[in-house]
Amino acid sequence: MRKKNFFAGPSVLPVEVLERLSEEIVDYHGQGLSMIEASHRGGMFEEMYDECLALFRELLGITDDYDVYFLGGGATLQFTMIPVNFLREGTVADYAKTGTWSNKATSDAQKLGKVNVFYDGKDNNYTSLPDVEKIVPSANSAYVYLCANETIGGIEWKSFPDTGDVPLIADMSSDIFSRPVDVKKFGMIYGGVQKNLGPAGATFIIMRKDMLSRRNENLTAYMDYALHSKDKGLYNTPPVFSIWAVKLVLEWIKKNGGVEGMDKRAEEKSSLIYSVLDSSSFYRSPVDKRYRSRMNIVFRLPSEELEKKFISESQKEGMLGLKGHRSVGGLRASLYNALPYEDVVALRDFMLEFEKRNS
Ligand code: PMP
Repeated sequence: MRKKNFFAGPSVLPVEVLERLSEEIVDYHGQGLSMIEASHRGGMFEEMYDECLALFRELLGITDDYDVYFLGGGATLQFTMIPVNFLREGTVADYAKTGTWSNKATSDAQKLGKVNVFYDGKDNNYTSLPDVEKIVPSANSAYVYLCANETIGGIEWKSFPDTGDVPLIADMSSDIFSRPVDVKKFGMIYGGVQKNLGPAGATFIIMRKDMLSRRNENLTAYMDYALHSKDKGLYNTPPVFSIWAVKLVLEWIKKNGGVEGMDKRAEEKSSLIYSVLDSSSFYRSPVDKRYRSRMNIVFRLPSEELEKKFISESQKEGMLGLKGHRSVGGLRASLYNALPYEDVVALRDFMLEFEKRNS
């Protein structure tokens, strides 16, 4: 019996994908070797990689004026690569501090150049977001940076600012492929794949090609996006296993209605839990209603003691990963694309029953 997997990442994958991987791991399509034993310069990997990138583009509707590829190093490496490339002498980078992940990105950028923090959610404990209509880039802005979904705080931008000629850069690690995205609004979108797309290892990069002309000169090889653009991420050995699994997850997404299908699933699943939070005085959501994440639902119980009890009893029911991140406490249910609807129903029912017994 599979567990009900509410982990924030690495996280649940479609069971069909796990089965395909297990069927094909020893002998990939009758070639007599595994995908993870083959050279990344060989036809077998490159053919699969090209299909993966084509599917990625197709599902998100990405046009030819954008590069798409995968790198290693996690989403965290991008906190450095972005300012190293684009935060040039005499420019300033505009950052929104909206929680753990954008705060980390901001602090890395501050070590590398001039940063203007145009929004800091410190005063509301990172439970709300700025009004997009009011966001205006600095006069000499190199880029505007935000994190589309704060995985730990459970807040998600529902729309994005219009930054004119200034490139908008977004970390979409935890909500990519959960809703349609107007890629044209962005100079760059990136994220780790280990939530909605596959096992940890690969980081996806979507970058408008003209961004390359804005970058610093004389960068070391791996830091330079131009080099990765030329080699579509194959300058060095790519995270082969992760990319292969991403390709299978993309096929699963396509089969299940594409991004629109995932959007509908996210709405249905998150509504089940938010409706419990909204109709209860036992459970409480700390997040501004306008920006509640559909991927990571953060909630509190009346006491820490009850929270501990909830976690331990839910584990006995086969529900894993409901403990909130250590930095914020409380509970968090991550409802990524691959999490079955029935598992969310089970959580909803458990919440209602737990409330009855303990209030
Ligand atoms: N950004 C977001 C929104 C995240 O959720 C995470 C990881 N949970 C990261 C960045 C960092 O990703 P990685 O561990 O791949 O470096």
